[in-house]
Amino acid sequence: MSIKNNLENISLKIPSEVCLVAVSKTKPISDILEAYEYGQRVFGENKIQELVEKHNKLPKDIEWHMIGHIQRNKVKYMAPFVSLIHSADSYRLIKEINKQGKINNRVINCLLQIKIASEESKFGFTEKEATDFLNSDEYVSFKNIKIVGLMGMATFTDDQRKIDQEFNKLKIFYKKVNRSNSEINVLSMGMSNDYPIAIRNGSTMVRIGSSIFGKRNYIKK
Ligand SMILES: *Cc1c(COP(=O)(O)O)cnc(C)c1O
Repeated sequence: MSIKNNLENISLKIPSEVCLVAVSKTKPISDILEAYEYGQRVFGENKIQELVEKHNKLPKDIEWHMIGHIQRNKVKYMAPFVSLIHSADSYRLIKEINKQGKINNRVINCLLQIKIASEESKFGFTEKEATDFLNSDEYVSFKNIKIVGLMGMATFTDDQRKIDQEFNKLKIFYKKVNRSNSEINVLSMGMSNDYPIAIRNGSTMVRIGSSIFGKRNYIKK
């Protein structure tokens, strides 16, 4: 199956109002161009260096999303152009993004990553930490960052019921946050193996890699 065929198949399975982020990590420029020629304009990467290199080489109307865990000292490299950071997972990182947003004279849109998986390895805020942050004076003082939604990753498992429960919990929290702050209107959840469950739970943005570009040769941490 070609990348175009894969994109066509996926677009049949996701409602038109759900944003598809094509996750191109580890994949070559030629693959991204094939998706681009099909009309895909939103791409996600999980390493800042790779994100910057691809941004430099590819058409400038691409929206680049950062979806992976971020080292604070590298925020400056993507700050001039990144469209959305899905993985804002700590107060100190958000503070740095705000600082780099200011240096670049822009407001950087971010999602708060919420820890929903039972796995220890997944990063993110608890619901309480996220609520406290959104209601804090610090957040009000951050003029160069805007939290526009939430992101979550389910446990890596074949247990569909567990994935469903985790997405459902995030959906309930998202609805609550959205009711008190209508600017928070993005819910990023769902990957190749679980996006149908995510969509059933109200996801507005899915991050799909291997179902578009094929299996990755190695897993980039
Ligand atoms: C790699 C990655 C994806 C895409 O994973 P696939 O299983 O290839 O669809 C989505 N979200 C995050 C945060 C990722 O790191």
